[in-house]
Amino acid sequence: MNEYDSNRIFDTVKKIGFTKTNRYEDANCYLLNTCHIRDKAKEKVYHEIGRVKKIFRSKKKPLVIIAGCVAQAENQEMLKREPYIDLVIGPQSYHKINNTILNYIEQKKKIEETEFDAVSKFEYLSRIKNKSNKVTSFLTIQEGCDKFCHFCVVPYTRGPEYSRPFNQVLNEAKHLVDSGAKEIILLGQNVNAYNYKSKKLSNLILEIEKLSQVKRIRYTTSHPNDMSTDLIEVYKSSKKLMPLIHLPVQSGSNKILKLMNRKHNIKEYLKTFEKLKQINPNIEFSSDFIIGYPGEDDQDFKDTIDLIKKVNFINSYSFIFSPRPGTVAENLEIINKEISTERLKIIQKLLSENQIKNNKSLENHTINVLVENLTKDKTKAFGRSEHMTPVFFNGKQDDIGKIVQVKITDSNRNSLFGELINISKKKVA
Ligand code: SF4
Repeated sequence: MNEYDSNRIFDTVKKIGFTKTNRYEDANCYLLNTCHIRDKAKEKVYHEIGRVKKIFRSKKKPLVIIAGCVAQAENQEMLKREPYIDLVIGPQSYHKINNTILNYIEQKKKIEETEFDAVSKFEYLSRIKNKSNKVTSFLTIQEGCDKFCHFCVVPYTRGPEYSRPFNQVLNEAKHLVDSGAKEIILLGQNVNAYNYKSKKLSNLILEIEKLSQVKRIRYTTSHPNDMSTDLIEVYKSSKKLMPLIHLPVQSGSNKILKLMNRKHNIKEYLKTFEKLKQINPNIEFSSDFIIGYPGEDDQDFKDTIDLIKKVNFINSYSFIFSPRPGTVAENLEIINKEISTERLKIIQKLLSENQIKNNKSLENHTINVLVENLTKDKTKAFGRSEHMTPVFFNGKQDDIGKIVQVKITDSNRNSLFGELINISKKKVA
């Protein structure tokens, strides 16, 4: 979502004359778009500002702006702690960025803009064309969260759940397609909770796939409780919805899910999994796991292992629990570090084996690949399989933006390698 936000911020500041530079030392404005999900996010920001200070030690100081969720969480505190920072802008205030910058240039007044105003933000941004000219483009359709999992900062940094107007989203999808997008990834902290005047995510998917230039549609990130019947059913009718579902479960233990305030349980999760597998056995799952959540005992951990074995997640993220400031879990008693490190190792080994096995099973098979670009040295083309796995093969510039068939000849944990199938030759044969 930060990548989407950064692009939209750039689309906005272009209006007041800013351009991008790849050389730090040429910049007269430095904007850091921050994420609060990772451990020690706040300290990393101050560390980064220290780096910028060094680069500009003997040069004119750039205008320094901190955006994103750390800006939202820290607000005024950032201006007090680090005088090198000039402006602090939270994720729901990006529509005010041009005025804020111009105001600062005129009056040198340092301010923080951290109100929750998603409606005005998206209304403003909808008037500025999304110029992301990538084959695979992100499109935010929903922001914020009302679920308040005990470990998570999102409800505090992104505010309450908000769904963008249906037509506003469709217009932005058309702009993306005009700029060359072939795959659209619909984004939201709870993307499958999207609901605008009874129009759901399933309605959006079916509408977007009517755009003939769109070849693939994905969405992320979902909550298990919002895998509604209409969304599950859309896998029957949609031609362009990809068969990989990122559905974070966090733990395989109902006891831990309750302690996390996740509001879903394993029985329901597996029911959703089975329904989707029945519709299309090619659908695969990925997830996030928090290991060593306060209260996790050996049995809870075993439950997580059992779930991983049942679902066979093909690609997942796993982390040891670390408390986030301001959350309910902040002050809970952390379990022994050695135990959680050992558990993480076991889980990651299992997840990695699944990934290797799954990639290996594709060797000698031909798969569809959406070509995104060429590798840096231009010797290979890079694209992704329907399940998002990176694929490297002997493609050309002309293949970019197309879905091509690639015969997989080799694989490792993260990637597939193969050869382009020459369709015309195949037909002659
Ligand atoms: S549902 Fe997701 S975004 Fe919302 S609080 Fe839980 S983990 Fe955070």
